[in-house]
Amino acid sequence: MREPSPPGTAARGAVPVLQLEAVTKVYPSQPPVPALRGVDLTVHGGELVAILGPSGSGKTTLLHMMGTLDRPTAGTVRITGIDVATLGDRRLSALRAQRIGFIFQQFFLAEHASVLDNVADGLLYAGVRGAERRRRAQDALTLVGLGDRGHARPTQLSGGQRQRVAIARALVGAPAIVLADEPTGNLDTVTGRSILALLDQLHEGGTTIVVITHDHDVADRMPRRIEIRDGHLVSDTTSDTTAAAPGHGSAPGAIS
Ligand code: ADP
Ligand code: MG
Repeated sequence: MREPSPPGTAARGAVPVLQLEAVTKVYPSQPPVPALRGVDLTVHGGELVAILGPSGSGKTTLLHMMGTLDRPTAGTVRITGIDVATLGDRRLSALRAQRIGFIFQQFFLAEHASVLDNVADGLLYAGVRGAERRRRAQDALTLVGLGDRGHARPTQLSGGQRQRVAIARALVGAPAIVLADEPTGNLDTVTGRSILALLDQLHEGGTTIVVITHDHDVADRMPRRIEIRDGHLVSDTTSDTTAAAPGHGSAPGAIS
């Protein structure tokens, strides 16, 4: 029997969880805005990647491409080896629901529902039965330090606690990758740091995470940092583990 894997753990040396090749995005506004100008990026299972860049540099657009929330103007996006351009909208939605967890600056919690149900709703599209949904939601809440607050309403929690609920909801389906767009943007510095510390702890447990952050001090401690300027990746400190990982296939296009 194989050990059950924690969320986001893909075997080293296997297909990368995320690959962008020559991705461009031009918003068809008047005049058109070139937000991404040819981005190449590979993320392997188990990585924690910080993305930094000034306002308007293309960070959110990049996250939308990685999360398949929007399609690129040109270039290729692969999630766990699957070229998303080959999928219609329904199959793409299913892939997104099963393999990608999102964390946003706004927490997007349903205020009328309990904390536990908010997290369990992360499994609505996974074909998991109600009792099992709640059991897994309870486990995810425990993981983020809120195991005893499942019956509370989101409005009874602090901002930092609400973001922890949103993180639990992102994790509950055991996605291949978690994408966070400035998850500390609505929080004070101390609370924000505790949220980034939680992401670090989840990374230690094997979860694959890409996080956009403004906090250079925190990003400096992350294993891999990518900087984006004006739609270009201008630096990428590739993590040691990735560089040292043996057996990465040299033909990523073979699986799609
Ligand atoms: P960041 O997250 O780094 O602040 P964004 O990815 O949101 O940057 O934006 C990159 C550029 O694309 C900016 O010039 C922004 O104004 C523009 N942009 C973003 N979304 C749209 C849109 N839907 N339509 C037109 N332009 C957009
Ligand atoms: Mg943004």
